[in-house]
Amino acid sequence: MSRYTGPKCRLCRREGEKLFLKGPRCQTEKCAFERRQTTPGLPPKKNVRRLSEYGIHLREKQKVKRMYGLQERQFREYFEVAASKKGVTGEALLQMLERRLDNLVYRIGLASSRRMAREYITHGHFLVNNHITNVPSFLVKKGDEIKLKEKSKTLKSIEEALKGKQEVPLWLSFEPAEFRVVVKELPERKDAPQDIRENLIVELYSK
Ligand code: SF4
Repeated sequence: MSRYTGPKCRLCRREGEKLFLKGPRCQTEKCAFERRQTTPGLPPKKNVRRLSEYGIHLREKQKVKRMYGLQERQFREYFEVAASKKGVTGEALLQMLERRLDNLVYRIGLASSRRMAREYITHGHFLVNNHITNVPSFLVKKGDEIKLKEKSKTLKSIEEALKGKQEVPLWLSFEPAEFRVVVKELPERKDAPQDIRENLIVELYSK
């Protein structure tokens, strides 16, 4: 399946919640979801969402997939790996999603969205353990050091993104002056968005 290239805000309206796909705009009154909380493609009178059990499971999976900007094949692969691990599959799935390099760059505030983080990474702005890493899906591990390339420290867009920085997750340590991050621990369930119901995704794929 090809990557979705249509309007990002439509995805939030489709999932019935804000997925924060457009950076600073998501925090303003210009947010399309704040202005219009209707499902795209449905006439206004039919806009009450009545989902089957399967539909509820499917929507949760679509929501998380879109939140992290993944395609179905990639998301399914993460699930297969998570299912093959010891422990709780849903938590293992979220841990892998959180460990993605693009997610980390977004979480510490060096990019205003995961999409922007992906762009920086593919353009080679980041080093992992002193090696340029241009793979957004790279999974960080405990002890990894992630740095912005020296030449990239003057990028205005990164400076701007840092101004709107939220709290740095507890599993990371960040030195903004150095643009340097160290992975202190692997993320746990509490480090992923609390509103995700990962059990629904596990049930969907286990059918
Ligand atoms: Fe979603 Fe952001 Fe668009 Fe709002 S502005 S609808 S949160 S992508």
